[in-house]
Amino acid sequence: MKQSLDVETLNTMVVEAKKYTKEGVVADYIPALGEANPETLSIAIYRGKGDCIAAGNIREKFTLQSISKVITLAVALMDHGEEYVFSKVGMEPTGDPFNSIAKLESNVPSKPLNPMINAGALAVTNMIIGETIDEKLGRILSLVHEMTCNPEITYCERVAKSELDTAFLNRSLCYFMKQHGVVKGVVEELLNLYTKQCAIQVDCYDLAKLGYVIANDGKNPNTERQIIPLHIARILKTFMVTCGMYNSSGEFAIKVGIPAKSGVSGAIMGSVPHGIGVGIYGPALDDRGNSVAGMKLLESLSSRYDLSIF
Ligand code: GLU
Repeated sequence: MKQSLDVETLNTMVVEAKKYTKEGVVADYIPALGEANPETLSIAIYRGKGDCIAAGNIREKFTLQSISKVITLAVALMDHGEEYVFSKVGMEPTGDPFNSIAKLESNVPSKPLNPMINAGALAVTNMIIGETIDEKLGRILSLVHEMTCNPEITYCERVAKSELDTAFLNRSLCYFMKQHGVVKGVVEELLNLYTKQCAIQVDCYDLAKLGYVIANDGKNPNTERQIIPLHIARILKTFMVTCGMYNSSGEFAIKVGIPAKSGVSGAIMGSVPHGIGVGIYGPALDDRGNSVAGMKLLESLSSRYDLSIF
């Protein structure tokens, strides 16, 4: 890093970036997410061994939404290995919106383009091993607990239900994929698990730790025990670079250059390889579904401290 990163500088950067919250709107296609305060912006940066700095309203909780796709991909890869997972889901980025159905129909045989768009993520969640929804969710949560060293983390029932009640597009993606043999089993059960995984509730500290583990080759942020195999942590980071910021991933790679994944709750998780983990929450989104102020904050962090991997 060019200069040392302290709380005072971080606070100033948050105040600067906060101005951009006015340019976005909160997601309301999941009704419960529409209740978020669009003016909020907070960040935590985890530097390993309990060293964390933060700015903004950092105790505020929010749901992972699409960031959970990175975690479930790790579980599915650990459960089945790369060959099986990527026989069902591709590895290519897309310029289409995250919930698009278009390529599912035009690609023959039908296969979601990557695990970060909704179709691919639903197919990945469908692979998680377990007898019941609770057992599968429990396995996803266990990994989150280990990565964050926070066993209290659970999912928000209200947000999960709100999404389940209104997930018409995701339902149609599932039925389309079931017709084409990409997903198996009962669609309602898959949606039930997926909406709960998306509703896993964290704060910026937890999110920064999740990012830190992925940044640091899958090792526990305190004990350095290997939680996720090295080659899987590498796959996760690569998807974060190529597909993590929806159809803004190319522009984000140029302007910021940090492997990152965003969610429609307004959260962004950043992983600087062999460096810091970043957790940001700013629910005002741009038209692609990324936190407007969160992206600005990451951009200034990256340029000020020379964090681009390119
Ligand atoms: N639960 C959300 C959905 O499936 C996640 C989308 C996102 O965060 O990009 O629509």
